[in-house]
Amino acid sequence: MKSSNATSDKAIARTIKIEGRVQGVGFRPHVYRIALQYNIRGHVKNRPDGVVIHAEGSVSQMDAFMNQLKNVPPAAVIKLITVASVPLSHFNDFRIVSSEPLQKQNTEICPDIALCNDCREELYTINRRKGYPLINCTNCGPRFTLIADLPYDRPLTSMKDFALCPQCAEEYSDPANRRFHAQPISCPSCGPVYSYHANGQNLYDFSVILSQIGHTLENGHALALKGLGGYHLACDATCAAAVQEIRKLKQRDAKPFAVMCRSLKAARQLTLLTDEEATQLNSWQRPIVVVRQRSSELLAPDVTRGLQTIGVFLPYLPLHHLIFDRIRCDYLVLTSANVSETPILCRDEEAMLQFQHLPGGLLSNNRSILRRCDDSVVKLIHHAPMLMRRSRGYVPTPVDLSFNVEGILACGAELSNTFCMGKEKQGIFSQHIGDLKNWETYSFYTENIGELSRIFKFEPHVAACDLHPDYRSTLFAQQSGLPVIQVQHHHAHIAAVMAEYHIEEPVIGLAWDGSGYGTDGCSWGSELLVADYYGFQRISHFEYLPLPGGDLAAREPWRCCLSYLVQAYGSHWNSLRIPFVNQFNTPESLLVYQAIQKKINAPLTSGAGRLFDAVAALTGVCTFNHYLSEAPMRLEELATAHTDDFYPFTGYDRISFRSTFHHLVQDLQKDIDTCIMATKFHNTLAQVALHQVKLACKSTPSRKVVLCGGSFQNRYLTEKIVYLLEQEGFQVYLPRDSSCNDSGIALGQLAVAAHKIQQACV
Ligand code: ZN
Ligand code: ZN
Ligand code: FE
Repeated sequence: MKSSNATSDKAIARTIKIEGRVQGVGFRPHVYRIALQYNIRGHVKNRPDGVVIHAEGSVSQMDAFMNQLKNVPPAAVIKLITVASVPLSHFNDFRIVSSEPLQKQNTEICPDIALCNDCREELYTINRRKGYPLINCTNCGPRFTLIADLPYDRPLTSMKDFALCPQCAEEYSDPANRRFHAQPISCPSCGPVYSYHANGQNLYDFSVILSQIGHTLENGHALALKGLGGYHLACDATCAAAVQEIRKLKQRDAKPFAVMCRSLKAARQLTLLTDEEATQLNSWQRPIVVVRQRSSELLAPDVTRGLQTIGVFLPYLPLHHLIFDRIRCDYLVLTSANVSETPILCRDEEAMLQFQHLPGGLLSNNRSILRRCDDSVVKLIHHAPMLMRRSRGYVPTPVDLSFNVEGILACGAELSNTFCMGKEKQGIFSQHIGDLKNWETYSFYTENIGELSRIFKFEPHVAACDLHPDYRSTLFAQQSGLPVIQVQHHHAHIAAVMAEYHIEEPVIGLAWDGSGYGTDGCSWGSELLVADYYGFQRISHFEYLPLPGGDLAAREPWRCCLSYLVQAYGSHWNSLRIPFVNQFNTPESLLVYQAIQKKINAPLTSGAGRLFDAVAALTGVCTFNHYLSEAPMRLEELATAHTDDFYPFTGYDRISFRSTFHHLVQDLQKDIDTCIMATKFHNTLAQVALHQVKLACKSTPSRKVVLCGGSFQNRYLTEKIVYLLEQEGFQVYLPRDSSCNDSGIALGQLAVAAHKIQQACV
């Protein structure tokens, strides 16, 4: 026994270099604690390229230490560990030593992190921070939203005006403490304070404020409260009048609200949560997760307006927990405090102006929000999260690339805009910005490009943008004074996914969405492109359809439906005996019919989104989009029938849906259940996708298929297509690091521009 132990007791020394997100996330204190735990001697320090440990101990101690090392703090990410054996230096303790002078500044900024379990426990146990709404530590709290400049140090954050009290200072400088070098720490005696303003009264005592807020919510009022990256409006989600009040305040009449649930248990009561969804819900990013409701009776009907899917999330600020402690209901509507489609409100003066007269009042504090950041939204698709909105918790985590993108500013798309900055081999996405058509949003966009460029020491020398001549992001690029590289919309969608997976060779890219400007000036959106970063070949798309009223058609699905019916039946469309014709055989639709016939104000489109619109209108599911993609979302919810049947379609490289519509009309006349029709329609599109991909195989040996574009936020459709393609031996890639809707476009623009620049240089 003794002899076998002898080898493991021999002292050894190693240097361990750890790369990844290991700075500003409590990594060195983590190393320090486990070094003490396993009696490891040596030191740990930050270097520009990561964290470096010199460790000495017995073989068994070293093994245990190395194992524990991998159980990292919540927001830390280890990308690479390099271990080398080195001679013993015979240290007799373990220390955190000062950082090596930075020759090159590290510009990684950590995203904001939800309240950690340790802090949550402290919030409820006797200690000086019990009940303190701004409790945080190295493992949690604000980061991105409070950093004014780099390096990440308290004087360069919005905490600069709050001097640490002696107790906080001691914690801050104690390597064994969870708050060692935690820049935003504070306590009730030295930190920011909350204030509550309602009915001309100003309250500053936090416990009084809390009980007041409790009453306000219980009495069915909405209130404005300051969060991490902006102000929110909150109300009891079970109270119809309160939800109405928020709808009025936001001037948002139909789009569903996300609901914050008291706990995972409450979320399970409300929704049919899978384990994968629960994991996302509980992750340190705490995104809004789009899930299926279990019961629509738990909430006021106005929250989702009949939609079965709902965005839910869990408390991520200490304040959220403290509020739930004061109310009986388990669900709060928590939505950004701004008028629909404008950026989230983050300035205290503006919030004061807008909300101090709110019957429910305004809850604020004196820690400034330096950077807007909305809640992120994810949906589980094919067993992994797909980002529908990449913001709080995810930004500004860079996307690692396999090629250099230094100095390229990718300006993004028009709707759901984000931009992306190229730094060496990383793409750094901005937070969610929104629809640039809106003037306020556009000014947020331009300010934010300046602001993030400054903080990330980013100096653009090329601007990449969409091909659409009227996108505000395109105009911005053209007016920037930089050389401009324009990238076709769907090419960018595909390139974004290629970049994320480090794919260099040509792929089969299926890009389906609402619309994107094509090289022929038409609106594209059902594209099968064989693409690499340098260019693409358009192999197949849906037959062009006149879109009567242009942009208006995106809001009024019945217009697309009429266009498809005219395509399938010509002038006989209005003698069909179906509910749609009964409803729309009106003077207005006759004018629209003439517009289609004469091709007046009816631009051509091949967008997949419009086909969803048309089928939703035909089946009576949705004839008017109250918000973006309402019709496709409602149609997706109905795809629940257990059938693999699909409708016929025709065409080779130009897919025609005339026969699909003939069969849909027949099913309508036979009074077939809408769920069956919706399912068959989805299955049809899955077969179309398979057809398009197989056709591409004639032009490329690649078996790699990229799915991208907003249509793949449709879970049923995406999973069906993935299943069909995998059965045929294709490898399918879905966007995970970037969003599959237009907010992911900027990454693709970055990738294409980088390769075109490189090509031009060779
Ligand atoms: Zn914490
Ligand atoms: Zn303090
Ligand atoms: Fe798109």
